[in-house]
Amino acid sequence: LRADLGKVVGAEHVLAGDTREYLHDSTDTRGVHGRADAVVLPGTAEEAAAVLAWCYERGVPITPRGGGTGYAGGAVPLGGVVLSLERLTRVRSFDPLLWRIEVEAGVRTGEVRRLARESGLFFPPDPGGSEQSQIGGNIATNAGGPHAFKYGVTGKWVTGLEAAIAPGELVRTGGPLRKDAAGYDLKALLVGSEGTLGIVTAAWLRLLPAPEAVHPAVGFYPDARAGCDAVLRVVGSGLEAAALEYLDAGTLAAAGPSYPGRIPAGAGFAVIAEADGSQDEAARLRDELLSVLGEGALGTGTPSPAELWRWRDGLVFAVIAKRGGKLGEDIAVPLDRLAEAIEESVALGRRHGFETVSWGHAGDGNLHTNFLVDPTDPEELARAERAGEELFELALRLGGTVSGEHGLGLLKRGHAGWTPRVAALQQAIKDAFDPKGLLNPGKKL
Ligand SMILES: Cc1cc2nc3c(=O)[nH]c(=O)nc-3n(C[C@H](O)[C@H](O)[C@H](O)COP(=O)(O)OP(=O)(O)OC[C@H]3O[C@@H](n4cnc5c(N)ncnc54)[C@H](O)[C@@H]3O)c2cc1C
Repeated sequence: LRADLGKVVGAEHVLAGDTREYLHDSTDTRGVHGRADAVVLPGTAEEAAAVLAWCYERGVPITPRGGGTGYAGGAVPLGGVVLSLERLTRVRSFDPLLWRIEVEAGVRTGEVRRLARESGLFFPPDPGGSEQSQIGGNIATNAGGPHAFKYGVTGKWVTGLEAAIAPGELVRTGGPLRKDAAGYDLKALLVGSEGTLGIVTAAWLRLLPAPEAVHPAVGFYPDARAGCDAVLRVVGSGLEAAALEYLDAGTLAAAGPSYPGRIPAGAGFAVIAEADGSQDEAARLRDELLSVLGEGALGTGTPSPAELWRWRDGLVFAVIAKRGGKLGEDIAVPLDRLAEAIEESVALGRRHGFETVSWGHAGDGNLHTNFLVDPTDPEELARAERAGEELFELALRLGGTVSGEHGLGLLKRGHAGWTPRVAALQQAIKDAFDPKGLLNPGKKL
C-alpha cells in the first residue's frame, strides 16, 4: 500500500500508519484514538484525487484530515488511509477589490483571516482553534464561532468548492460567484459533510470590508436565569451585536482569576456582547449594549477586545486543568430554552457524579457542555459517555440539536434523533456520493 501510494505522491509523502499525531483529534482529552495503515500527504488537488482513485479501486477506506482540531472524532481514522491536506496551502487567487479569495483546503483559518485583514477585508468565521484548523476542515464541519451570531457559519462564506469525489475525480461546484441557482446545491451538501461525501481540495470564499472598530461589553449576573434574561433582552432590543457569548458559574470559577478586569462578588454567570462597525457606530452600539446588559446585572465591564478574546480562547484550558480532562458536547437549543438547557445540563452531570460546566455562543443557543473527567480512568470516561447521551436527549427534548457546530463525527452518530424517512434520505445522499462507503466510514451516519 505504501509503495503504491508513494508512486502517486512521492515516497517521502507517505508516512507509516502508526504516526501518532494523525490518529487523534481534540477528542483525545476523552481518550479517543484510531488506527491507520498509512498516512498520505498529497501536494496537489490532482494527487488527492489520484489517492482517492487508488483507494476506491481497491476498497481501502480513506479519512480526510485537516488540522485535527475537531471535537467529534471525525478525523480519527478507523483503518485504511489518512489523507492529510496539510500540503495544499496555496492561495490560488485573491481579488481584494472584488471581496473574494480562492484558497486550497490546507490553508489555516487564521491565515485566511490575516490575509484578508492585510487588505482591509474580513473573513468572519472564527472557530476557536483557528491557528491550527484548516479552511477545508472548517468547511467539512461547517464551523461556527463567536461571530457566527451576526455573520453566520462557515458555509455562508463559501461560494464555490473544488473536491475530489468517488471514484477519484476532481469536480467544481459554484465558483467566484455571488449567486448560483442552477441544479441542486452540491456545494451545500459538501459543506458540513465531515469528509463522508468527498475531499475538499479548494474553496472560493466571500469576504467583507473589515469593521473599523470592535468594542466588547460584558455583564455579570448572579445565575443562569438572570444572565439568559439579559441575552433575550439584547436580542429583543434589536441591537445587532456581532457576538453574544456566555460563561456559566463553573466556567467563571475556573477562568475568572485571569479575566482582564474585575468580576463582581457573587457573579455566577457572564454575558459577553461585542459591538462592531465604524468607530462611532461601534462605540454607540457598545454603550447601548451596556445599558441593556446592565439591567439586573451585578456589574458590567468594557475590557479591550484583544485581552478579552485571548481570555475567552483560553477558557477551555482553564477548565481542562481542573481534572486533567473533559468530555465536551455542543448541543444547541432554541434561544428561549437556553437557561433551561444550562441548568438541566449541570443537574444531569451531577446525577452522574460530575462537575459540569458550560460556556458557549449564547445568541445562537449553542452550549459547550463539559463533564470534567480524569482521562486516565476508563470507568469515569464510560460514565461520562452515558451522561453525554442523556445530554443529547435533553437537547432533542428542548427542540434542539445534538450538535450546533462540531458535527456528528464518530461520537454522535446515531444520536441525531432523525425519523426513519429523514435517516433514509441522509443515507441516500451518502450512497449517491460514495456508493462503496469508503469515504470516512463509521462517521456521521
Ligand atoms: C480550542 C478549540 C476551540 C474550538 N472552537 C470552535 C468554535 O468556536 N466553533 C467551531 O465550530 N468549532 C470549534 N472547534 C472545533 C474545530 O476547530 C472545528 O470543528 C474545525 O472546523 C475543525 O477543522 P480541522 O481542520 O481541525 O478539521 P479536522 O479536525 O482535521 O477534521 C474535522 C472533520 O472534517 C473532515 N475534513 C477535514 N478536512 C477535510 C477536507 N479538506 N475535505 C473533506 N473533509 C475534511 C475530517 O474528516 C473530519 O470529519 C474548536 C476546537 C478547538 C481545539
